[in-house]
Amino acid sequence: MLQLNHVDVCYGSFKALTNISMSVDTGELVVLLGANGAGKTSLFNAISGLVKPAAGDILFEDKQLNGMKASAIVSNGVVQCAEGRKLFPEMRVMQNLMMGAYVHRRDRQGNRKRLNEVLELFPILGDKANESAGSLSGGQQQMVAIGRAMMSRPRLLMLDEPSLGLAPLVVKQMFETIRQINSLGTTVLLAEQNAFAALKIANRAYVMENGHLVMEGDREAMLGNEQVRKAYIGA
Ligand code: ATP
Repeated sequence: MLQLNHVDVCYGSFKALTNISMSVDTGELVVLLGANGAGKTSLFNAISGLVKPAAGDILFEDKQLNGMKASAIVSNGVVQCAEGRKLFPEMRVMQNLMMGAYVHRRDRQGNRKRLNEVLELFPILGDKANESAGSLSGGQQQMVAIGRAMMSRPRLLMLDEPSLGLAPLVVKQMFETIRQINSLGTTVLLAEQNAFAALKIANRAYVMENGHLVMEGDREAMLGNEQVRKAYIGA
């Protein structure tokens, strides 16, 4: 579904990503592990068209994404839910959700159907629909951010650190919801520092260090890998 071949990303003379080749297959839940600054966000931004790769190809269902406008990439089914949620705090929850439906604004019936699906995933957002997004708890704001991304009807959903800053119990629910989104048919690429919880719901994972991919493997191999356990799980 998604294929990256030899992708480099540079900020001026600083090379943030070097020679990244990776893939995500339809239906998979793939995790990207890496410490702060390893390059996970840069990789996501390159895929979503927010930064332009200095080299390499990014293909989604055999369509070339590099060079495509970010809005066209969303229309093609690749949607990013950014780190830090980036909501419109003064706007109501419902307005935030409907921002995600902008690319499908002519399909009102489809949007209504999708909104019902999102509210089934996050019932609390139905109760809070008319409250300002900024007044919600951190966990609820993360639900709005994921819900808004789901309103764009992704075929590939990229989640950047969705558990950041959330309480442990909320994190647990968040990972369960991500697993559910995936099992309902959305392919997921998940960047996380919370390696153990992320690996538990993943099919496969890649590990990034200093802008390079240094390891790849399926869930069992990663959970059993001593290097991964030492660096990312702390056991
Ligand atoms: P984090 O979880 O902290 O966001 P990350 O793995 O997502 O980390 P990136 O944000 O992609 O990492 O950053 C990778 C490297 O690129 C870092 O060294 C960072 O300082 C640098 N970097 C990121 N964005 C820019 C930018 N706009 N200009 C210059 N350097 C940048």
